Amino acid sequence: MIDVRQLTKRYGGTVAVDDLTFSVRPGGVTGFLGPNGAGKSTTMRMLLGLAAPTSGEGLVNGQRYAALRDPMHEVGALLDANAVHGGRSALDHLRCLALTNRIGIGRVTTVLEQVGLAGVARKRVKGFSLGMRQRLGIAAALLGDPGVLLFDEPVNGLDPDGVRWIRELLRSLGAEGRTVLVSSHLMSEMELTADRLVIVGRGRLVADTSVDELAERY
Ligand code: ADP
Ligand code: ADP
Repeated sequence: MIDVRQLTKRYGGTVAVDDLTFSVRPGGVTGFLGPNGAGKSTTMRMLLGLAAPTSGEGLVNGQRYAALRDPMHEVGALLDANAVHGGRSALDHLRCLALTNRIGIGRVTTVLEQVGLAGVARKRVKGFSLGMRQRLGIAAALLGDPGVLLFDEPVNGLDPDGVRWIRELLRSLGAEGRTVLVSSHLMSEMELTADRLVIVGRGRLVADTSVDELAERY
């Protein structure tokens, strides 16, 4: 599970995340909704140990990321699909990740099939479209078969088929009992994907509500 407790991050005069508190329990999909600049990426980066909180804490399974004994088995993340570059093949990229993280090599084939990239596994990532990079990023996130998954704006720039595919994947991961947090600035998309919404603006919590409740109120 995920626990964000009074989390704050300042960059000079900018308060990116401002005293944010929420938890996400296993099962279902939680949408992390808010306009660009609301602090969603910064929150996820802190949960992943990629940025240090100014104060407060972000915990995965009750621990700070740095204290997790087997991080890739506990939490997987898709932050920026374009971050996977290079002349290597998708297969090499995932094999290397598996080896350096002591993940059984058989998982590589499993996740490549899961994301629909088995047929292009030997092609260089350099030639991949955004949608293919997105799938590869998701394959990497799933490699350790983690119970907690963070997806930062996964549908950005995808065509309608890609958007639908990601929606179904997130819903099935949630239905398997994993803890799924997905950020987006698109209310309409989150209504279709998530059961619950944690809504943020200017780094602060605006609402924490189930999608059904929201539909009844508006
Ligand atoms: P979101 O993911 O909701 O779009 P971000 O977490 O990316 O929001 O950004 C929140 C705020 O923090 C923005 O004003 C952004 O410019 C600022 N910010 C994020 N990362 C940094 C950084 N490394 N240095 C300075 N400012 C940052
Ligand atoms: P930390 O918050 O842990 O100190 P850094 O300040 O090193 O992290 O920033 C992390 C990344 O965010 C850097 O690659 C930096 O270039 C990028 N960054 C810097 N300013 C901004 C900004 N205004 N909005 C978003 N990202 C930014």
